[in-house]
Amino acid sequence: KRVAGVLAHDMETGRIIEVRGRVVVNAAGVWSDDIESLAGERSPQVTASKGIHVVVPRDRIRADAGLITKTEKSVLFVIPFHDHWLIGTTDTPWTLGKAHPAASRADIEYLLGHLNSLLREPLGPGDITGVFAGLRPLVTGEAESTAKLSREHSITRPAPGLVSIAGGKYTTYRVMAEDVVNEATSHFAEPPPPTRTRDIPLHGAIGWQQSGSGPHAGHLRRRHGSDTAHIEALIAEEPVLGEPVVPDAPYLRAEVVWAATHEAALHLDDVLTRRTRISIEVPDRGIAAAPVVADLMAPVLGWDPATVARELEHYRARVAAERDSQEMPDDRTADAARMGAPDVRTAGNRRPSAGGE
Ligand SMILES: Cc1cc2nc3c(=O)[nH]c(=O)nc-3n(C[C@H](O)[C@H](O)[C@H](O)COP(=O)(O)OP(=O)(O)OC[C@H]3O[C@@H](n4cnc5c(N)ncnc54)[C@H](O)[C@@H]3O)c2cc1C
Repeated sequence: KRVAGVLAHDMETGRIIEVRGRVVVNAAGVWSDDIESLAGERSPQVTASKGIHVVVPRDRIRADAGLITKTEKSVLFVIPFHDHWLIGTTDTPWTLGKAHPAASRADIEYLLGHLNSLLREPLGPGDITGVFAGLRPLVTGEAESTAKLSREHSITRPAPGLVSIAGGKYTTYRVMAEDVVNEATSHFAEPPPPTRTRDIPLHGAIGWQQSGSGPHAGHLRRRHGSDTAHIEALIAEEPVLGEPVVPDAPYLRAEVVWAATHEAALHLDDVLTRRTRISIEVPDRGIAAAPVVADLMAPVLGWDPATVARELEHYRARVAAERDSQEMPDDRTADAARMGAPDVRTAGNRRPSAGGE
């Protein structure tokens, strides 16, 4: 028996899509073991490690440069983050729900405690505008597998037709991609041409310095590179799009439209927490911005009033659940509080319908 493809469940529509291939690459981060278990592999390869960050306004720490130092359990860093400081991080095992790792009060106190031992004017929870948590996929048990370790990531062949990659860093993603594609295609009768990844610029990199000329060009170039001129064209057509989404964040309304038309944003939280950082840079965590963003996304995505209301309700519930979880003393109670908010991608709860593509 060999893995011959995947049945993908579209969480937006509920459709099942069958994709066949000579080889399947499992690059599912902390979910890697779940995918391997679908192919019958049971030995765990990946351990989830939770890391949290907090964000505080720039004026709360009087410093000209960031800092990086070691703590007994992790690294403490304070990095300039536009109008804010990004402070991290923790490093603790996480065995609860993987979709929404929660930052607890203990995590926040740990970070503030270490930071305050270095500051003349200590920070308190009231200084924090945002908190976020993520899970690092750490490679644990590669001894039994046909592991091919490349410094920080591990590539295995857990079952015929299946190649897994785990570990690694954001900063090594091209090396990771190159290694896994080379491994996946190593048994092909006709190997593909050598990778060109080293020479392919990032999207928006070519000519970004010359893109755009309007009053917002500096901000837009930093965020969108050579797409700046396209976003300025939206503003030229509809000048109100040149206004900020909310007064206390630098993002323009045109960037919301652009996120929906060109950056695959499908839900409010895609814009408020991913395409922009409003949810961690504004003290109300994006509650006031949410209806403005919804009104901008609605015509692009064809949302009716009921969909707008559902999106707003989901976003508010998410913010409330995150705030609750950050008051909880430990992981278990924080996780229970965070799970109080349902996921906006509800199609996962609907009965899937078949439809090949
Ligand atoms: C707090 C924190 C700080 C970090 N700091 C840094 C840093 O400063 N520098 C750095 O280089 N790295 C950093 N990292 C590490 C970096 O985030 C990860 O190592 C990197 O994201 C791993 O990439 P990946 O593609 O393997 O996994 P992921 O980025 O986790 O991607 C896996 C993807 O698979 C998808 N997926 C899973 N299961 C399924 C399924 N069944 N169907 C469809 N899709 C699925 C997931 O939705 C996800 O998008 C940090 C990580 C954390 C948590």
